[in-house]
Amino acid sequence: TMQLFMPLNFLGFVYREIRGAMANIHNLFEVLERAPKVQDSPQAKKLSATQGRIRFEGVSFHYQPERPILRDVSFTVEPGQKVAVVGASGAGKSTLVKLLFRLYNPTQGEVFIDDQKITACTQNSVREVLGIVPQDTVLFNDSLLENIRYGDPQADDDKVRAVVKLAALDTFIASLPDGIQTQVGERGLKLSGGEKQRVAIARALLKNPQILVFDEATSSLDSQSEQAILQALKQAARAHTSLVIAHRLSTITDADCILVLDGGVLVEQGTHTALLQRNGHYARLWHVQQNT
Ligand code: ATP
Repeated sequence: TMQLFMPLNFLGFVYREIRGAMANIHNLFEVLERAPKVQDSPQAKKLSATQGRIRFEGVSFHYQPERPILRDVSFTVEPGQKVAVVGASGAGKSTLVKLLFRLYNPTQGEVFIDDQKITACTQNSVREVLGIVPQDTVLFNDSLLENIRYGDPQADDDKVRAVVKLAALDTFIASLPDGIQTQVGERGLKLSGGEKQRVAIARALLKNPQILVFDEATSSLDSQSEQAILQALKQAARAHTSLVIAHRLSTITDADCILVLDGGVLVEQGTHTALLQRNGHYARLWHVQQNT
């Protein structure tokens, strides 16, 4: 039996490796759409990040030269902080995240992670320290267990169970007849938007990156799912620097810093209270959302 078992075990390993890699590719596709290839320079170094400090210094960017998207954006996120990026649709929020993932290089300025220019680092090493919880998570035709394990193909079942709890998925999973072995994806159980986002949070928790990016769903969830996600996110963010692309300002009032983008310009930054007192762009956005 040993002889039969070994190769199967090995195949299983290869299969998990490939699936793990696929999960990363899928996650990236969700952010990068039709991103052109950014080339690593021959001298590219491996980013060594231990803290998760993010710094944008005079960053400008355009997809087409005639249409500037980000203009001279500068800010710093200290390790462990929670930062929110807000602004109207098209203000450049996702573009800012794409630059952080080095899907594109800035046309001017520099992005630093732990004081290293990311343009001087290999893309792989940059993406290693970043995790993303996308708006719409791709689930594979496999069990929930394996879908969550994509975050770290080496993780054992106990580790997976621990993040399931942190991501507030345990009650949901307990309600399924096959529990964590339930088949999901196109050919299995379809999860709600909120449940899928919590699966993505569990994946991200397994990956345990220094920097966690959360792309809040545009469509409003019911308040119970919303609360579950916020709770899960709080857990996920504890040991990480987190950056939230926020659509509902009510979810980010506790952020250490809120970056307000308007037409690609960083027009304001500060805490919720400070920005309300300023009575400027953020305060206007806030009052509009309070009245809808
Ligand atoms: P939303 O809240 O609607 O997601 P956003 O603030 O995230 O908006 P971005 O997605 O960063 O905005 O887009 C900023 C601008 O850049 C938009 O006008 C958009 O049309 C443009 N844009 C985004 N991606 C591309 C691309 N790949 N090629 C050309 N233009 C793009």
